Amino acid sequence: MEKEGLIRAIQKLHQEQIDIQTIITDRHVQIKKWIRETMTSTRHCFDIWHVAKGLKKKLVALSKEKECDNLQRWIKSITNHLYWVASSTPDGNGDMMLQKWESIVNHIKNIHHGHGTLFPVCTHEPLDPSYSKKKWLKPGTKVCGKLEMILTSTYMKRDIPMLSTGQQTSCLEAYHSVINHFAPKIIGLSYHGMQSRLLLAALHFNENVGRAQALFPNGDKRFSIIFPKQKNGDFTVRQVKTQCTFNYVEDLISATIAHVQCVQMPYCKINGEAPPPLCQNFVHPEKS
Ligand SMILES: [Zn+2]
Repeated sequence: MEKEGLIRAIQKLHQEQIDIQTIITDRHVQIKKWIRETMTSTRHCFDIWHVAKGLKKKLVALSKEKECDNLQRWIKSITNHLYWVASSTPDGNGDMMLQKWESIVNHIKNIHHGHGTLFPVCTHEPLDPSYSKKKWLKPGTKVCGKLEMILTSTYMKRDIPMLSTGQQTSCLEAYHSVINHFAPKIIGLSYHGMQSRLLLAALHFNENVGRAQALFPNGDKRFSIIFPKQKNGDFTVRQVKTQCTFNYVEDLISATIAHVQCVQMPYCKINGEAPPPLCQNFVHPEKS
């Protein structure tokens, strides 16, 4: 959500005296400042996807530098580690999340213990040495030094403890895409047209947001593999959900019929024929 929209939405909740305990946003610096100064009793968290996106951009840029191409095969592991840091710390302990995060600096050099007091040892199984030989980064190399600078930068130190461990903004973003479907930005809509479409989008979203994962006839869960454009050929595994339902349409039709039946309709009559289209009066050139 853009900054002004977010601020307006929060102000409205404030007026209605709704207490906000936690708010999850992207990493927008101005929003962070505004929330810190205005909502002193609210916990502000960052959506992991947005933090991962910024980090990945820096890692990709570094992997394109001279002597740094062996970083490429680490990028996915590092961003996965970021998600793991948050999802494995449900109580949101910021110090713990930071230590878990910084353990990757050791891990990439094949050091799996001695990370810190809260998180001393990696939790993964012992690694197969024949597999790992080609993967580890050598301490003292250019790529290792520069990578460490990115992973332990002031930004990361500040943002990692603020990662959202539960809810993410992806649900809200999915809602925005439903709005785009019902009210495409390319079409200029009247106020009431827009309002109706937003209400329809909300009805559709609320009915379908919690759909279960689809199953094969033998009961296995269905997944699909997609190749998002922003991942440059890399894939994402996604749950296939059951088909959307449209029960709200039936409800709306029933509500409309009930409403019309109890409203006294004035006697209506169509007066004469509809006028011809405006362009009929224009001079039509010969097609040839
Ligand atoms: Zn490790």
